[in-house]
Amino acid sequence: MPHDFIPQPCEVCGEATKNRCSSCHKAGIDLFFCSPEHQKLVWPAHKCVCGPGKALPFAALPLSEAELAELHRRLDEVAVPGGSAPRTLRAELQPLGRKPAETVLQELPGPVSDTSRLLHKPLIVCLLRHVLARSFYSRAATTPPGDPRLQVRAGFLMVIVDGVHNPFAAAQMTAQFVHNILSWLRGFEVMPHNYAHATWFSLVQHTALIMSALFQYDLGGVTPDPSRPLFRGAHARFTEWVKAGMGTGNPHFVRGLAGFNITMD
Ligand SMILES: [Zn+2]
Ligand SMILES: [Zn+2]
Repeated sequence: MPHDFIPQPCEVCGEATKNRCSSCHKAGIDLFFCSPEHQKLVWPAHKCVCGPGKALPFAALPLSEAELAELHRRLDEVAVPGGSAPRTLRAELQPLGRKPAETVLQELPGPVSDTSRLLHKPLIVCLLRHVLARSFYSRAATTPPGDPRLQVRAGFLMVIVDGVHNPFAAAQMTAQFVHNILSWLRGFEVMPHNYAHATWFSLVQHTALIMSALFQYDLGGVTPDPSRPLFRGAHARFTEWVKAGMGTGNPHFVRGLAGFNITMD
């Protein structure tokens, strides 16, 4: 294999490396890991979207029947995160799907990257998963009341209490990061029309998923590498990378995301 490319930061520790996930490379996307140890560390999350058919376009976990039924029931009840004034799920979904909210929900099953019926399907799935995560964690958390951030943390603690990564929890958290980025792009009116198959969009989701997996170690009190705060480092690199336009060189992205900050609301 030719090694004529510039070393890139390891997704886990940030160390410059030329080693990349070979299955994902075959799929057309490069994710760098300095060592088999660091690749293995996030494997429980990464394996769900690794390699041809899954890595590009990113094979996001489709919403289940039960999740869709819950959203359907709560269309007028749930407030959507982000933006200045809280809106109901129905008020958010209709303009985004360009059809009644009930129809949007009906058209959601199937591959998330299939945008033939819903142009913004990947964004809608991220949004809905973000909404579900919030309601799940605020219901699941028993202490302390009143602080949503702490409730989210407590919720994650509960799902990894057996010490095993929960891919579903990682998918939910990934959706929160990605939904934040897409909201920024929409807010600055620099959201492209077709992005479901774009390399940057897949890369954002892979990176956010790996970061989510590292966050789960933090929350579970597991320290895989005591010499380095892995999640904090990954979070800082992720933020800088997003602010710089996510490797696209797209000046609209750079302009829109210059002030980007990840909020975990
Ligand atoms: Zn590493
Ligand atoms: Zn891979």
